[in-house]
Amino acid sequence: MSGTSVKQIDKEALPNRQGRFGEFGGCYVPETLMTALKDLGEEYEQAKSDPEFQSELAFQLKEFAGRPTGLYFAERLTEEIGGAKIYFKREDLLHTGAHKINNAIGQALLAKRMGKRRIIAETGAGQHGVATATVCAKMGLECVVYMGAVDMERQRLNVFRMQLCGAEVRGVDSGQKTLKDAVNEAMRDWVTNVRDTHYILGSALGAHPYPMMVRDFHRVIGKEAREQILEKEGRLPDEMIACVGGGSNAIGLFYEFLDEPDIRLVGVEAGGYGIKQGEHAARFEGGRLGVLQGCKTYILQNEDGQIELTHSISAGLDYAAIGPEHAYYRDTGRIDYAYATDDEVLEAFQLLCRVEGIIPALESAHALAYTVKRASELSKDKIIVMNLSGRGDKDVNQVARFLGEEV
Ligand SMILES: *Cc1c(COP(=O)(O)O)cnc(C)c1O
Repeated sequence: MSGTSVKQIDKEALPNRQGRFGEFGGCYVPETLMTALKDLGEEYEQAKSDPEFQSELAFQLKEFAGRPTGLYFAERLTEEIGGAKIYFKREDLLHTGAHKINNAIGQALLAKRMGKRRIIAETGAGQHGVATATVCAKMGLECVVYMGAVDMERQRLNVFRMQLCGAEVRGVDSGQKTLKDAVNEAMRDWVTNVRDTHYILGSALGAHPYPMMVRDFHRVIGKEAREQILEKEGRLPDEMIACVGGGSNAIGLFYEFLDEPDIRLVGVEAGGYGIKQGEHAARFEGGRLGVLQGCKTYILQNEDGQIELTHSISAGLDYAAIGPEHAYYRDTGRIDYAYATDDEVLEAFQLLCRVEGIIPALESAHALAYTVKRASELSKDKIIVMNLSGRGDKDVNQVARFLGEEV
């Protein structure tokens, strides 16, 4: 045995039966939802070991979503940077343009299994709403999506997409009229209609069993990536990088590699205008332990426990809390976290368009900004795999505005 003292990771043991990752996670919801969450957890455990459910899931991921996604060697970007080899896991090529469809399909199948024909969801930028609305159309399920009034104004195209697919989009006028308020409304709806309604939560967040379940539906990303990099390079990568909003695309990629101590894993948060109160969404830069919307985790809050304003150029990373599993692996040191500012993100976004002909989502461009920096510090025999979580079609108007262009 070598003398190094790498702490053994027992990822299978997490979360525990109370839904905890160490001190994080748990189930902080109104009494009326406890039964629903317990039932959901039990149903999920059965589905997980049901070959019929798993084969239906695999079939839909292939036929409807477009899996497997490629692992793409970014040759020109690698040359441009002159350091480590850069590979992208191409979740941007999935139906509806991001990884979110993996989870939407999984949970919709679970809802059908439970005999629930009505689906509700929350959405910020609209990506999770669109993924959910398309899946509901495909499966013949009723769909209501809660969205902050401010977000509806900012993301009108996505609102229309959801409506085209037959979903009802309900505007939320409380609070900041953004994602956090949409989650509150969705929870309120669920409390009232829990008998016939399933709530498809969009990230590895919220009360148990959601963080675990959402993670599991995205683990396919890492499983594919392992096979693909072994096929292309004959070995595992040195580093893996993903952006972190709630944390679903990152944990989906990382999970498969948590117990590979030689692989460095890095989550990239939204640095916004820079790390000053109210100007970013990097929960590990100034966030503190607290409870928000169902779970205990790192939260951006003021001295009185009021949730702070957050800012990011990308709506998908603009949230005050981070998934509890990330909080756990951050504290244990297994995953490193960094952040990228809006300016760095805009730069990385343009670079990728220019040298690879790939327009990334602004969320993914956070991971990219860090990847570019990191690749330049590493030698040419090193390998980085980055999760390209989504495509940037939804963001081109916004980027044009930042660059002072009219489109
Ligand atoms: C929603 C979204 C994210 C952030 O969500 P996670 O749960 O952290 O993955 C990242 N990238 C894209 C493209 C998204 O749409």
